[in-house]
Amino acid sequence: MLVKAVSFRLESELPVQAKFLLEDFRLAVNSAIRAGLQTRATSRNALCKSVYKDFRTEHPGMYAQHLVSVFEVAASALKNHRKKVRKGQVGRIPYVHRLFMKTENQAYTLDRANGVIDLPIRAGCHVELKLVLSEYHRVFLNDASFSLGSLTLFADRVVIAFRTTELRPYIPESVVSLDTNERSLDGVFVSEGKGTPVKALFPQVAAIQQRHHGRRKRLQKKKSHDRRTSRRLCKREGKREHDRVECRMHQVANAVIDFAEENKAAIVLEDLKGVFKPREDKALNRRLSMWPRRKLHDFIEYKAQWRGVTVLKVDPRNSSRKCPKCGRLQDSRKGTEFACECGWHLDRHINASLNLLQTAVSKEMVGGLRFDPGALQHDVMMILYDPEKGARSEPNGASCVEAAA
Ligand SMILES: [Zn+2]
Repeated sequence: MLVKAVSFRLESELPVQAKFLLEDFRLAVNSAIRAGLQTRATSRNALCKSVYKDFRTEHPGMYAQHLVSVFEVAASALKNHRKKVRKGQVGRIPYVHRLFMKTENQAYTLDRANGVIDLPIRAGCHVELKLVLSEYHRVFLNDASFSLGSLTLFADRVVIAFRTTELRPYIPESVVSLDTNERSLDGVFVSEGKGTPVKALFPQVAAIQQRHHGRRKRLQKKKSHDRRTSRRLCKREGKREHDRVECRMHQVANAVIDFAEENKAAIVLEDLKGVFKPREDKALNRRLSMWPRRKLHDFIEYKAQWRGVTVLKVDPRNSSRKCPKCGRLQDSRKGTEFACECGWHLDRHINASLNLLQTAVSKEMVGGLRFDPGALQHDVMMILYDPEKGARSEPNGASCVEAAA
């Protein structure tokens, strides 16, 4: 079963009763955590058994289902706490600061046509929450094969988990192999024995990270006399950077998946486990370790899984040094082109993706997708994603095209 959490904004401010519920929930979670530490309960059920009665009297107004969710949230906080203690990190008694509440699908109803949630507060008191719906949200609401999971309510938004068991996997008829680089995904798309170089460009990710890093450094210097302010401002910078980078990663991943789905292609990626090797250049190290390739791969993988697209991950060893035609190993750190004694030469990154493809084909046996490097069309290039050509709009309707920097 697959689960996807979809975030909705609220059309109006949270009703007062719901605000009280959030505060009540937080209070209950924190006292459940303390009770759990005292009684050494380690699971939701154990908590439920040992302290439900006391909680029923302490929070007489709370809907019973919400109370069970209280124990669930508390149990997961306790689990994290125990993990920390086991690792020897001195964990303070966990305390939930954030205002939120979680509840299971039995406890709320969702009008999928109009996007209205009916949430019980206590006996005889319900609130209605109207969700802001975009096209993206409608996809989940309109498709009845997505069943509803838990609901998490925050002060300004609602996160609903959608579940599906219906997978529509396809038998890949082609394959797109991608090498992950700092500013682009470069690869080759192979269909019916023909290979075409492809590219998905994201030059701004590195630029954004560079810019925010510089800003943080300046902030730290300027506010060195006031560490609290410095920390607060840096945290805000970090959040901004995170959001901006993540937004682009989503767009790139979506573009790749769209392309794969249209062409019934399997996706080949390098397995990034333990790829990063520190080098001499400190600034380069920082840049390479910051660059969230893992995250991009995670996005591609989960989106692919959700849409039934096959993803193969292969060992990237020697992929940048091998000649796909004759198999010789060459030193790769020379310019942008890979050249071999046998006369084969190609863009370094595309060459790496050809090697990934060959590993995938030989190891995983992508049936009938054997590809002769000689059949690569050198003069064509397909662009899967180009931020210059207008990014697609984001789920919340806001556009995410960066002003030319
Ligand atoms: Zn060669």
